[in-house]
Amino acid sequence: MTLSNCNDDAIYCAYNEPQSIIVVDDEEGILKIVSQFIEFLGFSVRTVQNSLDVLRLMEEEEATIVITDLLMPRMDGMELIKELKSRWPDVDVIVMTGYAKDFSYTDVINVGASDFIQKPFNLNELEAKLRRIIKERNLRGALRRLSTRDVLTDLFNRRYFEQRIEEEAERAFRQQYPLFLLIVDIDKFKPINDNYGHEEGDKILKMLADVLISSTRKHVDSCFRFGGDEFAIIVPQASIEQVINIAERICSNFASLNTRGATLSIGIAQFVRTDNMLRDDLSELIRCADEAMYIAKKDGGNNVVVHQNACEA
Ligand code: GH3
Ligand code: MG
Repeated sequence: MTLSNCNDDAIYCAYNEPQSIIVVDDEEGILKIVSQFIEFLGFSVRTVQNSLDVLRLMEEEEATIVITDLLMPRMDGMELIKELKSRWPDVDVIVMTGYAKDFSYTDVINVGASDFIQKPFNLNELEAKLRRIIKERNLRGALRRLSTRDVLTDLFNRRYFEQRIEEEAERAFRQQYPLFLLIVDIDKFKPINDNYGHEEGDKILKMLADVLISSTRKHVDSCFRFGGDEFAIIVPQASIEQVINIAERICSNFASLNTRGATLSIGIAQFVRTDNMLRDDLSELIRCADEAMYIAKKDGGNNVVVHQNACEA
C-alpha cells in the first residue's frame, strides 16, 4: 500500500507488519484462554510454560510480541524480559501477573516491558493493549522505512548507506570475507529529461531500481539510490568474478529495456581495511568506486570498470 492510498493515520497504515505472538504462563488454563483469544483476533500464537522455552522459540522463529507471566520456575518473568530485550531489542513484552504487589508497573517498564496487565483481567483489556502495541510497532516501522528509503525508487537512501556500509565493513573484516562497492550512474540522463520530460526520466530511474534489485542477491546485496541518477550496491561475500558478472548483468538487463537509449557506467572497488580509522577506509572505498565509474564513463559509457584496488586486494 502506498502512502497516498491512506487517508487517516497515513504513515501508520502504510506499514502493516504480520504479528507473531508467544504466550508464556505456567498455568495451563490461562495459556488456553489467552491463546484462543489471540487466535480469535487473527494473530499467530505459540504457547509455552516456561521462560527457557520462550528463548528456544525465539531462536527458532522470532516473535514480535511476548506475553509473559512474572512468577515462573527456572527463570522468572523479570529475567526473561531482560534477556529478550538484550537479544531481540525490537520485541514487545506484555507482562500479565497476579503479583502486582511484588512488582510495580514501573518495575516491569524499567526492565523493558511495553505494558502490564494485572490478573484477573478481562480480555478486552488485553485486546486494547495488544492493539496499541501493534499500532505503535507499525508506526515505528513506517517511520524507519521513511527515514531509510528513497521516495521515488523505494531503494535504500544515502543516509542509510552510511550506516549499512559501516556494519557490512565491520562484519566483513571480522569474518575475513571480501566486500565490494559498485557505483552505478546513468549515461547522458539529462538529455532524456530534456527530450522526453521529467516523468519519463523518473520512469527510467524506477526501471533501473528494479533492475538493480532483480540482478542482485536478496538479503545479501543491498541497493541504494545516492541521489539524482547515481546508485550504489554493497556486495559482500563474493569473488571479483562474481561481482563483475553482477555488474555486467545489470548493464545488459537495463539496456534490454525501453530506456530511451540510456546506458550505465559502473565502477567497482573492494573494501580494504588498513590501520586508519574505519571511516577513512570507507571514504577511500567510495572514492575508488567513484573513480572507476568515471573511467567507465570517460571510455564512452555502457561499461564496467574495476578499480585497481580490487585487483591488488
Ligand atoms: P553523465 O552522462 O556525465 O552521467 O551526465 P548526465 O546527463 O547523466 O547527468 P548527470 O549524471 O551529471 O546529472 C544527473 C541528472 O539527473 C541531472 C538531473 O537532470 C537528473 N535528475 C536528478 N534527479 C532526478 C529525478 O529525481 N528525476 C529525474 N527525472 N531526473 C533527475
Ligand atoms: Mg549521469
